[in-house]
Amino acid sequence: MNKLPEFPPEPPRTLRLRLDLEALAQNWRALDRLSGSAAAGAAIKADCYGLGLSALAPVLREAGARDFLVAHWSEVAGALEYVPAAELSVLHGPMNAADAAFARATGVRPVINSVHQATVWIENGGGPCDLMIDTGINRLGLPMSEIGNEIGAKLDVEVLMSHLASADEDSGLNAAQLQRFTQACAVIPASRRSLANSAGIALGRDYAFDLTRPGLSLYGGVPRDELGAHIRQVAFPQAAIIQCRKLKAGDAVGYNGIFTASGPMRVGVVSIGYADGFLRCWGLNGALQHGEVLLPLLGKVSMDMVIVDLAAAPELAEGDWVDVPYNLPDASVTSGLSQYELLTTLGRRFTR
Ligand SMILES: *Cc1c(COP(=O)(O)O)cnc(C)c1O
Repeated sequence: MNKLPEFPPEPPRTLRLRLDLEALAQNWRALDRLSGSAAAGAAIKADCYGLGLSALAPVLREAGARDFLVAHWSEVAGALEYVPAAELSVLHGPMNAADAAFARATGVRPVINSVHQATVWIENGGGPCDLMIDTGINRLGLPMSEIGNEIGAKLDVEVLMSHLASADEDSGLNAAQLQRFTQACAVIPASRRSLANSAGIALGRDYAFDLTRPGLSLYGGVPRDELGAHIRQVAFPQAAIIQCRKLKAGDAVGYNGIFTASGPMRVGVVSIGYADGFLRCWGLNGALQHGEVLLPLLGKVSMDMVIVDLAAAPELAEGDWVDVPYNLPDASVTSGLSQYELLTTLGRRFTR
């Protein structure tokens, strides 16, 4: 095999993600303000919900965040490039001795989620940790029936936390979880208490305790209308037109040819597809945009490309950029994807 002596510089990409870092900082400050006397932390798991840890984590810390959350142990090394170990918690907790040893060696806090995890942590040396109580989500966390377990008294709990299952809805579960969490707080000593995620912040001060844990809304998500006035869009994807075509009556477009031109039309082939988070569910009602001008999608998203009608923007040509409408609440309605899915599926091919 011929090996290039030096790999040549990559040519410009046909996908780019503009990140409004000022909006990110403002979102954190707004959520911190809405948290009242509680401090807002920041969930930075999954590469800051897919937007890019390296660009976003420093901005969040600069804005004032001092409590950061990742989910996997594999995310710790990346996060520690931007966040001190004492400010980082790992949500999935220690399942075994290797996890516990890694936590102790790096100095991050594991979130203990069960009696088993508590035992693993203590048997492997223990130290400061967080403790997750399950108050009704049945995902991770010590069940309410075990809050009196003697192992709890052996833990050095920095943040006692629980997670709301339906804070984005006016569900009776919210008040029930608040009541159970208050009960757990009375039993388990901890330096600080934390219940609310982004949506939970909008439920009011009763839910804020000492620390809130926003994720989605930092990145522009609006899980409850009350947050709409405070949260700005952070991620602005754009894709390039890589070919312009002229269609005539009867020409079918894209996979399975579900759109057929009824007369002559000019269309653009745009470089975005499934691997970039642009799933087929966008195709039915969706459009890309050129400024305020809508460019309706024609036919199905076809692997790495979509085809749009250029009738409303005849000046557009190959190489021009078009906007992917990514105001998250609206994009969620158009695509049927959750705001979480819209962010985390954007993929790796964007210039960030
Ligand atoms: C992901 C996560 C958060 C952030 O939730 P959002 O709904 O994105 O604000 C907070 N706490 C825990 C335990 C989480 O897993």
